[in-house]
Amino acid sequence: MTDEGILLVVSGPSGAGKGTICNALRKLHPEICYSVSATTRAPRTGEIDGVSYFFTGEQKFREMIKADAFLEYAKVYDNYYGTPKKQVLDLVAQGHTVLLEIDIQGAMQVKSKYPQGIFVYIVPPSLAELSYRLYTRDTDSKEVIRRRLEKVTDELALAHQYDYIVVNDELPDAVDKVRAIMMAERCKLARNRERINTVFKKYICEEVHHHDD
Ligand code: ADP
Ligand code: 5GP
Repeated sequence: MTDEGILLVVSGPSGAGKGTICNALRKLHPEICYSVSATTRAPRTGEIDGVSYFFTGEQKFREMIKADAFLEYAKVYDNYYGTPKKQVLDLVAQGHTVLLEIDIQGAMQVKSKYPQGIFVYIVPPSLAELSYRLYTRDTDSKEVIRRRLEKVTDELALAHQYDYIVVNDELPDAVDKVRAIMMAERCKLARNRERINTVFKKYICEEVHHHDD
């Protein structure tokens, strides 16, 4: 038996810095398993199928919904995004830390299906800064950005459903905080029952040998 791993769900409004923080965290912790989502959106320049996302057509995505292949899925603006279920749950069962970087609707679905997940909400320091970051990221049209900013107030209202909130002002600080959350969660007693048993068994055996000598 191994202890269950951690499903670390990083979520928040678009442009808050989820992607940037998760990339930095994965560089620091190569042992983290990153869940590659499926999406119906077209690849952007530089994105690789199977690495950034699994770029599926709508037909394939619908088939996956029917087959109950998603832990969660949501329509985020104009496209569908979903987390493949089996791989994620298998990896957690094997003791791995699995990182999901998903939107707020998706995070709420994961919370209802897998409440023992760790839910981290990333917020920008201000609405003005969020707007600035979305414009300077230069990946979306003005209309798309306007719609994303319109949704922020509703999205912020869901923050109280999360376990942790991290303000992404200075990037290194925000990364440190998410890392600290992960490390503390890994050390929780309830997550280490098997490990404790193994350590104590080993300790008792060593003691016995010591007294035999
Ligand atoms: P999300 O994944 O939440 O949509 P991104 O990670 O793509 O957001 O970040 C949005 C933009 O803001 C990107 O251009 C990114 O480089 C920038 N950014 C992220 N974090 C910070 C930060 N702490 N300070 C300044 N710019 C940031
Ligand atoms: P983008 O198209 O910019 O890569 O992502 C748009 C939004 O979709 C981001 O907020 C991102 O976190 C979210 N997203 C990415 N993958 C998933 C997923 O599997 N499920 C859900 N619910 N949202 C996702």
